[in-house]
Amino acid sequence: MLARSKAAEIGATGIGKDFGGFVALADVTLTVGRGEFLTLLGPSGSGKTTFLMILSGFEAPTTGRLTLDGRDMTRTPAEERAFGMVFQSYALFPHMTVEENIAFPLKVQKRSAAEVKRRVAEIVEMVGLGGHGHKRPSGLSGGQQQRVALARALVYEPPVLLLDEPFSALDKNLRGQMQEEMRRLHRETGTTFVFVTHDQSEALALSTRIAIFEKGRLQQLAAPREVYERPANRFVAEFLGEINILPLTGASSDAGGGGGVFEGQALRAASAGHPGATNLAVRPEYMRLHMTRPETGNAVAARLDHLTYLGAETRLGLRTQGGTELTLLLPTAELPAGLEPGMSVWAGWPETRGFLL
Ligand code: ATP
Repeated sequence: MLARSKAAEIGATGIGKDFGGFVALADVTLTVGRGEFLTLLGPSGSGKTTFLMILSGFEAPTTGRLTLDGRDMTRTPAEERAFGMVFQSYALFPHMTVEENIAFPLKVQKRSAAEVKRRVAEIVEMVGLGGHGHKRPSGLSGGQQQRVALARALVYEPPVLLLDEPFSALDKNLRGQMQEEMRRLHRETGTTFVFVTHDQSEALALSTRIAIFEKGRLQQLAAPREVYERPANRFVAEFLGEINILPLTGASSDAGGGGGVFEGQALRAASAGHPGATNLAVRPEYMRLHMTRPETGNAVAARLDHLTYLGAETRLGLRTQGGTELTLLLPTAELPAGLEPGMSVWAGWPETRGFLL
């Protein structure tokens, strides 16, 4: 069993990176907890890889400070940090077998032959490569090659494992399978994982917390449910999935919640919103369709514009009297019979499901 005690905590304070006048990162401050699975999520060019490279030591920050278990590591070279790394391109040695690839970091560290043998055997089983140890990378599938890369990064029990879009070259099914493997490996090794992706559902499924980047700035750092259900701003809300945004007049909020008026209808949210927020935001799956005005909760009158059958779910496009488009995502099994575009309907939702944005 790989030791659990080696996981490290990383601190980043005011990290900035300029590339010849171009600001790739600005003032990023965060802590990666010991044994955490932290995902860096953001659109292309938002600075995720740059931040990961700064954590690894392969890039130096222009400003700011890094710590490892509280000790300054801002200028510690990459080889002394000795973090495990896995990239999209597996970067395996083609002339070595699976076992030789995995043994490589242990040999560099001059571990005894007996230890190398024992650890390689252990990790080969752990990543599900039993029986493939004597093959060369060219004889393996993409998923198997990525398992070799993971094994090689984990075999010497690094305090931190850095992963940059490791599954983006894999097809969807294999990707799902590898995500499950990652969760298991994280649990079993207890190592601190920092994972880069631009795939929202991958981030939500895997992470203990998600750091959301836009244009080099950290927008929010919180647990998956919190970033999805209580996004810090409109960018985060929209980046994580579809969201209905209802502009309010006379919006106000206090500790007991908030609300305002939308097309003559008073709407409320149970939680206090951001100061100065002027919209009520609701995810499509939390809105329900009603043929008459529901007696409780928030409700908005609209016309059914279109329906898209998606199998287990059906997506409904509604348009309010004032022209605001709403999306509802409903279990197909709950749809009323005889729904037709053009019908007058109501979209309703409980006060606990909306928030001011
Ligand atoms: P992707 O998902 O596309 O990999 P990312 O969020 O990882 O994007 P980065 O690779 O960190 O983004 O890049 C952030 C910005 O910094 C981009 O605009 C990129 O062009 C720029 N950048 C990165 N490395 C360099 C470099 N060596 N020289 C100049 N600009 C760079």
